[in-house]
Amino acid sequence: MGCSNLRHEAIKHIATTTYQLNRVDFKTVHLKELFGVNVFSEEVQRARLPKPIFKALQKTIKRGQPLDPTIADAVANAMKDWAMEKGATHFTHQFQPMTGLTAEKHDSFLSPTGTGSAIADFSGKELIKGEPDASSFPSGGIRATFEARGYTAWDPSSPAYIVENPNGATLVIPTAFLSWTGEALDKKTPLLRSIEALSSQALRILHLFGNHDATKVFSTMGPEQEYFLIDKQFFYARPDLLNCGRTLFGAKPPKGQELEDQYFGSIPERVLACMAEGEYEMTKLGVPARTRHNEVAPSQYELAPLFEDSNLATDHQMLTMEILRNTADKYGLACLMHEKPFSGINGSGKHNNWSMATDAGENLLTPGDTPHDNAQFLVFCCTVIRAVNKYAELLRVTVASAANDHRLGANEAPPAIVSIFLGDQLTDVIEQIENGGPKSSKDAGIFETGVSILPKLPKDAGDRNRTSPFAFTGNKFEFRMVGSSQSIAGPNTVLNLIVAESLDYVASKLEAAVKAGIDLNKAIQELLPQIIKENKRIIFNGDNYTEEWHKEAEKRGLANLKNTVDTLPIITRKDTIDLCTKYKVYTERELHSRFHIFSEGYVKTINIEGQLMVYMGGRMIFPASLRYQAEVAAAVNATKAAGVDNAPQLELLKTLTAAIADFQKALANLEKALSHHTEADAYEHAKYMRDMVLPIMAETRNLGDKLETLVADDHWPLPTYREMLFIK
Ligand code: ADP
Ligand code: MG
Repeated sequence: MGCSNLRHEAIKHIATTTYQLNRVDFKTVHLKELFGVNVFSEEVQRARLPKPIFKALQKTIKRGQPLDPTIADAVANAMKDWAMEKGATHFTHQFQPMTGLTAEKHDSFLSPTGTGSAIADFSGKELIKGEPDASSFPSGGIRATFEARGYTAWDPSSPAYIVENPNGATLVIPTAFLSWTGEALDKKTPLLRSIEALSSQALRILHLFGNHDATKVFSTMGPEQEYFLIDKQFFYARPDLLNCGRTLFGAKPPKGQELEDQYFGSIPERVLACMAEGEYEMTKLGVPARTRHNEVAPSQYELAPLFEDSNLATDHQMLTMEILRNTADKYGLACLMHEKPFSGINGSGKHNNWSMATDAGENLLTPGDTPHDNAQFLVFCCTVIRAVNKYAELLRVTVASAANDHRLGANEAPPAIVSIFLGDQLTDVIEQIENGGPKSSKDAGIFETGVSILPKLPKDAGDRNRTSPFAFTGNKFEFRMVGSSQSIAGPNTVLNLIVAESLDYVASKLEAAVKAGIDLNKAIQELLPQIIKENKRIIFNGDNYTEEWHKEAEKRGLANLKNTVDTLPIITRKDTIDLCTKYKVYTERELHSRFHIFSEGYVKTINIEGQLMVYMGGRMIFPASLRYQAEVAAAVNATKAAGVDNAPQLELLKTLTAAIADFQKALANLEKALSHHTEADAYEHAKYMRDMVLPIMAETRNLGDKLETLVADDHWPLPTYREMLFIK
């Protein structure tokens, strides 16, 4: 007696739907002409602004010089005319509050004149500053609701753009979001501060090497986005995916990723069509999408853009996630950005490729061809090694979340222990430096001592290590711990900051030496071995998944912070406060506020998941199990009445009844654990969720999944892993 349920309907619907796939015609719209058409780009600015105003604006954008407020009106006016020609009716200050998402409130360009007509208006004041009612965004105690004012401040270094909608368009202005006391309420403000800190310290090193042409150094970022695409029908039939982004139940499917037949495989037609339209939208917004491919898990994919300066890359990354989600919808797909949508199957990360470059375009982590570049590269490279070793724990905090906890430390993603992979050749060079530089070579006879004659470094690191959390990949570092749903602002803010501190340290030493009359090369030759000696424990080129490494790491004194709750106290530790305030990246109050926000976020996430488990268990799994139990019980009686052996039916009934009883008990436990109110602060509550709620959730899941393997398939209400991952 199969009864109709959402799951069956979903499968039927998918099997019988033809999707409209041809939505973009690249024969008539050429990518090249499409790039940035909806961006208020340098080209548009040049064409539309009076020359002196264009020049002043460019100085702000390129050199970070303060904006001359008198030019704001002219810029705003040009922006408005351009936007309205493109169909915009509204403008919005977009910001990145501590929710980890973007926020926007739209204002119309229209101003009534009071005489029955209206004019289109957008002033410099409106461009520069907005005042959204900010009371409903997380502030971690920085702002009480009675002082709800928050300001959005235009970030001229990230260009305004137009977002199209079937009915009209909106001019979007990237902004920073601050409290009226000037404290950051967002993720962009600290990132911008960290870029400045990095720039001023890196320039000191460049000056030592005689480079006085560079006026700015910025970090470059290329984030590789992993995500899943599954049919929307399944998504709607799974309350857990809809509300939590991950499955809270789901038995292991007979086929998972073990055949390794998915990675780099041919992309399914519907998915490829969806990717292409997403990239089309990204292209219009000047987001440089570059590569796309199938990832390791079934229905998992990846998109990587070309790298950009980290502020722009961060804004573009937020846009990318939004575009992926919206486009998927048009193709009857749901884009899952969660770090671990399916347990037992690979999760998703966001490899954060990071380097430093001058405004002249020189990548400071390129080994280079000449000995001089080589020495400069080694100095920059060693500062990064020192930074990551010294502040490994702080770096770990930036990727901590309830969602990423399912990924880090499991046997797939990088482990929770931060270490650096340098590759054989670079490691060899580093070892040579540590031992005082290479003194001899078989072929070339005697080398002079000195850093500047170290062997030429390979442009390409050659070998790869997929298990390392922080890997040197030829001309950049790849920070692989970042979660797929996370904003990259936090990790990059801290990377910029800790490297700035390291550059400061190195620059101070070298400047002092040079001032004392010591040759720069000699000073470097003395300093680098010491830095390497002090920090080499962070370097590990082996397999990061092994038990031996975990033991070895412990011996080396490297932290293994296994979950979010373990990491959070680092945010308000004295060394963090000293570091952040010294380089003016976070104030002490901002750090305390973030500690509070992250603690609360953790509690809320687990609480929602727990509540949803209770709901799904009680309203979907339990009823289905009871219906099946009644069927089995009827079969027990029917076989008995028929006078045949009913031992198998009875056996099944007993197994089922026991499983149902266990599940019911677990659900009751979970409900009780969730209703327990901790009066203590958010962090204590987070600890409680980790220690008391998560284990019960794990137990409940196991028991629910057991029922999935017992209950008749036609009764089971939830789309299964097998279906969600393989029906395309
Ligand atoms: P892989 O998956 O092999 O690591 P991908 O091509 O998927 O390589 O991604 C590499 C990413 O690194 C791209 O986004 C690329 O633009 C970025 N990248 C390359 N050079 C730099 C650099 N100097 N700074 C930051 N990111 C970079
Ligand atoms: Mg990749």
